[in-house]
Amino acid sequence: CGIVGYIGRKDSKEILLNGLEKLEYRGYDSAGIYVLNKAEDGYLFKEKGRIAALRKKVDESVKATAGIGHTRWATHGEPSVRNAHPHQSISGRFTLVHNGVIENYEEIRDAYLADVEQKSDTDTEIIVQLIAWFVETENLETIDAFKKAIVALEGSYALALMDSEKPDIIYAAKNKSPLLLGKGDGFNVISSDAMAMIKETDQFVELMDKEIATVTREALIIEDFTGERIERAPYTAEIDL
Ligand code: GLU
Repeated sequence: CGIVGYIGRKDSKEILLNGLEKLEYRGYDSAGIYVLNKAEDGYLFKEKGRIAALRKKVDESVKATAGIGHTRWATHGEPSVRNAHPHQSISGRFTLVHNGVIENYEEIRDAYLADVEQKSDTDTEIIVQLIAWFVETENLETIDAFKKAIVALEGSYALALMDSEKPDIIYAAKNKSPLLLGKGDGFNVISSDAMAMIKETDQFVELMDKEIATVTREALIIEDFTGERIERAPYTAEIDL
């Protein structure tokens, strides 16, 4: 299972699908991508089975230069289109992919989301619903809602989040599941491993546990939960193409 993300100037769906194919070796039962063209112009594609099947489902005519992708290894909820990632908030504004297991998802659901209709059987969905809940109920900025949701989570996660009202940002965070940030010229990427994005860049920064990344075309900003900025130089990934 794995995660990819791209924000730049090229056709993101191709880069995401190619990246997911590179992650196939990790094993998976379903896959999906979400691409965002401009504010409130996002497209979600999910399929059970192989990336080749997902590729067939993706609308060729969709153009977008930012997006996130996921291969799922089901832990909560059977392998199905309904349970495949990305998962979305009820309004469709927030879209999230997750690798790992949220141990306290039932507690979070009961504490905050008793009135929110669940669209899947996964532990993941409560994360995106909780972020939306903090934004809508407490009027928080997306980054602050993301942080607040993460602080509530127990378990393992690599996460990538998009807000359809902020089409120029991918948010990422991790705990006990790997996630790399890749630096480019006029673009940036995220990836579970360097191989999935090596065609785009060989400059990677490792995200550490309980750090939050804000990824735009121009910048990779890493901070901790208290908002303290973290500077970390990229390393060069050496992989033969
Ligand atoms: N626990 C999540 C699910 O079952 C994520 C699984 C994964 O790491 O792919 O949907």
